Amino acid sequence: MGLVVQKYGGTSVGTVDRIKAVAERVCASQKRGDRIVVVVSAMAGETNRLFKLASELSEAPNARETDVLVATGEQVSAALLAIRLNSLGFPGASCLAHQLKLATDSNHGRAKIKSVEANRLSSAIKEGKIAVVAGYQGIDERGDITTLGRGASDLTAVALAAALKADLCEIYTDVDGVYTADPNIVPTARKLDRISYDEMLEMAGLGAKVLQLRSVELARRFNVPLVVRSSFGDGVGTWVGQEDATMEDVLVSGVTLDQNQAKVTIGGVEDRPGLAAKIFGPIADAGIIVDMIIQNASADGRTDMTFTVTRDDLKRALDIVKKIGGEIGIAGVRFEDPVAKVSIVGLGMRSHAGVAATMFRVLAEERINIEMIATSEIKVSVVVNSKYGELAMRALHDTFLGGANGAAETP
Ligand code: ADP
Ligand code: ASP
Ligand code: MG
Repeated sequence: MGLVVQKYGGTSVGTVDRIKAVAERVCASQKRGDRIVVVVSAMAGETNRLFKLASELSEAPNARETDVLVATGEQVSAALLAIRLNSLGFPGASCLAHQLKLATDSNHGRAKIKSVEANRLSSAIKEGKIAVVAGYQGIDERGDITTLGRGASDLTAVALAAALKADLCEIYTDVDGVYTADPNIVPTARKLDRISYDEMLEMAGLGAKVLQLRSVELARRFNVPLVVRSSFGDGVGTWVGQEDATMEDVLVSGVTLDQNQAKVTIGGVEDRPGLAAKIFGPIADAGIIVDMIIQNASADGRTDMTFTVTRDDLKRALDIVKKIGGEIGIAGVRFEDPVAKVSIVGLGMRSHAGVAATMFRVLAEERINIEMIATSEIKVSVVVNSKYGELAMRALHDTFLGGANGAAETP
C-alpha cells in the first residue's frame, strides 16, 4: 500500500468517455489499497483554444488576464473527473491552486513554484478522499492566478509527489512510455524500460515533450521516482530514476527533435573584448534564453555571431540585436525561422569517442548540411534546415538505435 500521485494529460481526459476511463482507473487503484492523489490537465486542445481566443482580441494579451483565462481548462477537467468519481460512489473532490496553496512567483505564463502546502491534501487522504488537483496553475503573493508554463501539469504532479513524500508519481499519457525517439515521428522507435533522470532531462530539454523539463528537474532534486505509462492500456511503462551501473552500457538512449527554434546571425561584429557581453547581456536581461552560440573566426577584425532562441522569443531577440547593432556598428542581422535541432542523448557517450563523428557522417550521407553543433557530456546536438529535421532524426535513430531490423551500429 503506497501513496501515489497520478497525473492524466490532455488526451487522457480529452472526452467524456476518456474521463470515465480515468475514473475507473483511479477507483481501481484506490480499491487495491493505494492512496491516490490525481492531477489533471485541460482536455486535449483546450489550452490552445483559450490562447487563440486571447490572441484574437489582442496582439499582446495581458499576461495576468491570460493566466486567468488559460487556467480554466484544468478547472473544468478536475471538476468533471470529481463528478464522475462521486457518481461511482468514490469521494472525489476537485482542488484548485488557491485551495492547495500552490504558491508561485508572479511571472505570469512561466511562474516558478515557491512552496506547496500539503496539509489539505494530507487531511483529504486521511479521510479517504480522492483529491483531483487542477494542474498547470498556481497562486502568487497577491492571490492572483498564475500558470507554470506549457506542459506543466507534469510539474504540478511532481511537486505534489515531493511535498507529500509520495512513493511514486505516475504520468499517464497517450504513449505507453518514453521511447528512443518520438514514436509519432519514428515508427521504429522502441519503448525504454528505464531511463536515468539525467538522460530524461537532456531529452526533455531537447524536445521530447513526453515529460516537461522542469518536472524532471524537480523529480531529480527530490528523488521522486516517475513512471510514464499509457492511460489507454495496462503496460508497465518507463521508469525514470537514479542512474545505475547497467545504464552506462547503453551508448545512445534517445534521439530528439526540436522544431521550435529560430536562428539569428549578426554579421560583421568587431572582434574585440566586451562585444559578446554587450549583445547577450540585454538579451538575458529580457529573460530570453539563448541556446546555442557560435562565433566564427574573424576576418579583417570582424566576425559573425550566430545563436538560437525559441521561436516565441525571436521577435524580441531581433529587436534587441538590431538596437545594439546600431550602437556598436555591425554589418547586418539575418535570421532563419524555424530551424530544427536534432540531438542524440546517452550516458554511454561519456566514455566513448567517435559518437559525434558517426552522427556527422550519417547526416552527410543524407546530404543534410549541419548549421551549428553543440555538445555536452551526454549529448550531441546539431541545427539543420527545418525541412530535414524528421529525416535526420530517422537516419540517426536507424544508425544508433537500430531501424526496422533492430541492428544498431556502434562507432
Ligand atoms: P500529455 O497531454 O499526456 O501531457 P504530451 O503530448 O505532452 O502528452 O506528451 C506525449 C507526446 O510526447 C507523445 O504523444 C509523443 O508524440 C511525444 N514524444 C516526444 N518524444 C517522445 C519520446 N521520446 N517518447 C515518447 N513520447 C514522445
Ligand atoms: N494544459 C496545459 C498545456 O496545454 C498544461 C498541460 O497540459 O500540462 O500546456
Ligand atoms: Mg505533456
